[in-house]
Amino acid sequence: MIPVRFVKGATVGVLGLGRSGMAAAEALEAGGATVILWDDNAPARDKAEGYGYDTRDLSRDDVMAELDLLVVSPGIPHLYPAPHKAIAAAYAASVPVDNDIGLFFRSLATEAWDSLDVPPRVIAVTGSNGKSTTAALIHHILEIAGKPVQLAGNIGRGVLSIDPPGEGAAVVLELSSYQTDLARAMTPDIAVFTNLSPDHLDRHAGLGGYFAAKRRLFAEGGPDRAVIGVDEAEGQYLAGQLSEGPTDDRVIRVAVGHKLAGPGWNVMARKGFLSETRKGRQQASIDLRGIPGLPGAHNHQNACAAYAACRALGLAPRLIEDGLRSYPGLPHRSQIVGEKDGITFVNDSKATNVDSAVKALSAFPRIRWICGGLEKEGGLGALKGQTGAVAKAYVIGRAAAGFALELDVEAEICTTMAQAVERAVAEAQPGDTILLAPAAASFDQYDNFEQRGADFMAEVAQYLR
Ligand code: ADP
Repeated sequence: MIPVRFVKGATVGVLGLGRSGMAAAEALEAGGATVILWDDNAPARDKAEGYGYDTRDLSRDDVMAELDLLVVSPGIPHLYPAPHKAIAAAYAASVPVDNDIGLFFRSLATEAWDSLDVPPRVIAVTGSNGKSTTAALIHHILEIAGKPVQLAGNIGRGVLSIDPPGEGAAVVLELSSYQTDLARAMTPDIAVFTNLSPDHLDRHAGLGGYFAAKRRLFAEGGPDRAVIGVDEAEGQYLAGQLSEGPTDDRVIRVAVGHKLAGPGWNVMARKGFLSETRKGRQQASIDLRGIPGLPGAHNHQNACAAYAACRALGLAPRLIEDGLRSYPGLPHRSQIVGEKDGITFVNDSKATNVDSAVKALSAFPRIRWICGGLEKEGGLGALKGQTGAVAKAYVIGRAAAGFALELDVEAEICTTMAQAVERAVAEAQPGDTILLAPAAASFDQYDNFEQRGADFMAEVAQYLR
């Protein structure tokens, strides 16, 4: 655990009692704060009371009057579509609002670091898609290279739950836009921006707000080195803002959609080959084709970002290549579930938005596509013209009929996963991939994308027997 610093004697409210909220409460108490906890959900409060915590409604003026700080969980809206009433009360009472990420960055470095030869370094990853994969990949590469490393944030452990890192250690964080939007301090050594496409627009009042939330990772204190995906205008803009000129290698530019020339520090993947150039000279080249844990151009983007972050840490290209080759992949992200009669089954349940689904659709040659669910704001327009590899769509979800109408491929309304898998298997030819890449959230039928992916795998398991 990382005890929170600078809160001795303070009274701190903790709103939201999930994994990160409970870890924050513990770390705040370890730092000498008095905590008052709240969650709108009664079972969560009961659990906290069971641990002996004081739970009181933080939106009450008399409770807010006791607070020096309010710490909130990422799932709770702090501004759009409207602030939670306890957060609104904090704004009205001028009580600072922070989250576990802000507490983490303020608390990580201690006096003990003064005696270390190589102090710990923090690598933070944000972006619309590929965050988990990139963070897990950096973690894996460092582990394979024999470095002490921990993975935390949206993936792995809560940031305040990690062990205090020691000599030469690394901490890899995956940070969502909700987290970067609110944290009052963010000072990673290396920050990675994978890419930008519309997502979570309701929480950020549109794409501009969403990008602004992610950009804060590069502004609040700022990283020593930034790895920026520059396939979109937003990444190009960010890279331009952070560098003094074309040769400034505090920024490492990453691209898979176009060639990077220029004298700066570049990592790109073209036709399946990663190449690193610096000061106009090639430093390394790696064949990414056929690495089982990293199929498709989108994963090559993740590989480039992870490669760049590890190079910034001083790792040799050969060591990084070993890590890329042995990366096992994450469940629900381009996960090959099995093969039978020449048909491959792939679970990409994490493709909860249109852009990630488009990427999955370009990673396999002939696809029977299981899609649908709770459509995200922004619609399915961006799928148009991207479904060339799809032989047919099998649409799930409560609103499957409406979803199917928006597609520019032949689509069958299946509604349930069982039906979709059954129909896709019945029609599949050898060489086909049956791909779950929903392009939608799962909440109309499932608790989360993991449950949806597990349902797909359970259905598929029947055919693989
Ligand atoms: P995140 O943590 O940002 O949601 P994940 O690594 O969990 O990212 O991947 C989420 C989804 O996006 C998966 O469906 C995956 O196949 C797809 N994806 C992964 N990397 C990328 C990328 N670089 N660009 C676009 N889509 C991606």
